[in-house]
Amino acid sequence: MRFLSDTISETVRNIHSGEITSTSIVKRSLDTIARGNENLNAFLSVQSDHALKRASELDGLPADQKKSMPLFGIPVAIKDNICTKGVPTTCASHMLSNFVPPYDASVVEFLLNAGAVPVGKTNLDEFAMGSSTENSRFGITRNPVDPSKIPGGSSGGSAAAVGAGFVPAALGSDTGGSIRQPASHCGVVGLKPTYGRVSRYGLVAFASSLDQIGPITSDVRDAGLLLEVLSQVDSRDSTCARKPFSNNQDIYSLDTRGLRIGLPAEYFGEGLSDDVRLPIMNLLDMLKERGAQAVPVSLPNLRFAIATYYIICTAEASSNLARYDGVKYGFRDTRGKTLTDMYSLTRQNGLGDEVKRRIMLGTYVLSSGYYDAYYLKAAKVRTLIAQDFNAAFEKCDVIISPVSTTPAFSIGEKTEDPLQMYLTDIYTVSANLAGIPGISVPCGTAGGLPVGVQFISSHWREDLLLKVGYASQVALENR
Ligand code: GLN
Repeated sequence: MRFLSDTISETVRNIHSGEITSTSIVKRSLDTIARGNENLNAFLSVQSDHALKRASELDGLPADQKKSMPLFGIPVAIKDNICTKGVPTTCASHMLSNFVPPYDASVVEFLLNAGAVPVGKTNLDEFAMGSSTENSRFGITRNPVDPSKIPGGSSGGSAAAVGAGFVPAALGSDTGGSIRQPASHCGVVGLKPTYGRVSRYGLVAFASSLDQIGPITSDVRDAGLLLEVLSQVDSRDSTCARKPFSNNQDIYSLDTRGLRIGLPAEYFGEGLSDDVRLPIMNLLDMLKERGAQAVPVSLPNLRFAIATYYIICTAEASSNLARYDGVKYGFRDTRGKTLTDMYSLTRQNGLGDEVKRRIMLGTYVLSSGYYDAYYLKAAKVRTLIAQDFNAAFEKCDVIISPVSTTPAFSIGEKTEDPLQMYLTDIYTVSANLAGIPGISVPCGTAGGLPVGVQFISSHWREDLLLKVGYASQVALENR
């Protein structure tokens, strides 16, 4: 179910022309959340009063001021690992259950300057570590299409909020697939930008060399609009490039003639279910009928991607999460007698099992006896994976691939087996390792559950992803 039948830009034009008000749209969003969130648990907190107040202030602005804001009056949801001034930012962790940031993340500031109305903070796997939103300290989120299934993760709350029609857009973060994979499971669009495209200032760090914030929307064109707003230059994040994205409308011309779509054999082999393979192959046929070409490409080092990712991300996580020691902010366990007791009790009781597992793995691969064998080796393989993509992009413009091996699985199905859970990330982590962008677009259903297709491009070519993504969206609508 979509929140808007139009695109966000069309809706904003209708607000500008006075046909509808921001207050009425925000009210509708809050009403839908009030009716549906109890069942889905997509939101951890909803700021109703704040949102209504802001909407009415926006409605009162003079017309010329309204016109300069591309998201004027639009309700949005924000993943709860992105800092919001005066509003709890928990990372779905007991450790930060009482943390109220004194500042807004840059992306939140950009949304506010563009006229958006944040309505609430969405659920996630604790500190964004997971693929199903079952690792949240505040309960699981359910899939809006079938509540017995997971919504995907870790941005499961954001994807469920858009999929359930609570909001037209939400922010997620993607370290190894956490925007694309839940988008795929909830039947919505998710875009992970090029590393460095969007400022990470105010995003609670999981693995700093992989993390990227991006939009989750119902329509590909909305994802392009959001990317334009989010990709502003920001000196507060030294890895933020000076490369703002321009959402040029030519991107959506539907002209896919001559577009070379790389088909990597390694992505369609063993382990991929027909439920996912068939809708993707159907879509590829449709794109070929519209003038695109399929070209075989090879990514031989892909088979090392999961191992490489889980070494690098745990190493970085173990370092990033060292700051949660009970001293500076967040939860403190005061039952011990000594300082060391305080540290260990705080971490023992403040962090969940998956987070602790990753800290242990990360400190192990970084320890002096094992650094060369694991971390250094993984860093080298990461380069090989990036080189595979460079070679592939000499032959093609975009790569087509699955997002996940299967449609959404049942709640509880993989929680006892972390390795099975990690393996579900096989198609998404390599884009993060290489720093390149990827988009997940709905491409059909299997047994009533949404199936997404992923397109990947070289650095800074989100325009190509949006182009082929929009062509796919339209081809499927007209099927
Ligand atoms: N599922 C992956 C992990 O658990 C990716 C998470 C993410 O992108 N935040 O690490």
